Amino acid sequence: MSARISDSIHKKIAQRLTFYDDLGVRLFYKDRMATGDRAVAQHATQSFAAPINQQISHEESPLPKSIRKPEPPAPAPAQAAPRVAPPLAPRMPSVLPVPAGPSLFEAFDKVPGDTLLNIRTDLGECTRCKLHKTRNKIVFGDGSPKAQLVFVGEGPGHDEDIQGLPFVGRAGKLLTQMIEAMGLQRQDVYICNVVKCRPPENRLPEKDEITPCSPFLLRQLDAIDPKVIVCLGACSAQTLLETNRGISQFRGQWLEFRGRKLMATYHPAYLLRNPSAKSEVWKDLQKVMAVLGLEVKKGKSAEAGKPS
Ligand code: URA
Repeated sequence: MSARISDSIHKKIAQRLTFYDDLGVRLFYKDRMATGDRAVAQHATQSFAAPINQQISHEESPLPKSIRKPEPPAPAPAQAAPRVAPPLAPRMPSVLPVPAGPSLFEAFDKVPGDTLLNIRTDLGECTRCKLHKTRNKIVFGDGSPKAQLVFVGEGPGHDEDIQGLPFVGRAGKLLTQMIEAMGLQRQDVYICNVVKCRPPENRLPEKDEITPCSPFLLRQLDAIDPKVIVCLGACSAQTLLETNRGISQFRGQWLEFRGRKLMATYHPAYLLRNPSAKSEVWKDLQKVMAVLGLEVKKGKSAEAGKPS
């Protein structure tokens, strides 16, 4: 005898299908295949080749998370650790143990031919989470679609919500200074956030807000395909790295996100409250500059270049 699916399971399945749809995985049904809805058929087949328990693991157990290809044995982690990037020469020792198990972000292939415009269109006038009720404007992201460097913040604040642009308030002005200190302009990089709508009172984004927004961030990062991703603050770093570790444990280290180099550093808003941490962030940004082939000044001149 077949049991009726409970309303809560039904709701969960519906949410899950929406989540996959947002990732560009549109092909649950054969008749949809026939519509040729962008070139995602192959993508969907590959994505769903993974066992179902791997695919749903993000919602069921959000953190900690893992790498796809296990590395040689490492000490068992007390907490989930971010993936460590292949070392730059000379080899840098890592203090982070290698995590095990599947990762939501790693499990999804790039949507072929995806563009920021497609992603923005798919996002639409989003009502996927409760933040839509209080937002003024969606803050999708801003900058070059071909940027080598992407900054990922936490979520829009008051000024961003009004203007529909990321990092335009006080913290944004500091971020702009940081970018310029690197020898770049804002339009050379891409800036976006973990969530695209302002959390009320600038509180931290919640899991049920981050989860539906993540597919769009993932697709933005894949479409831009930057050389380096800089996570600004713990929310961004913990979301992309799928870890619950404190940012100070891995800040300033080269880590990895879907085959790209990722550096986590402190959020500019934190620097406004703790200006003495600016020199740590500047050191992190200098590592990024070295990878991007930007001139890194040594010694006193490096300190002089530090954003004030
Ligand atoms: N803080 C963020 O994390 N993002 C913004 O866009 C602005 C402030």
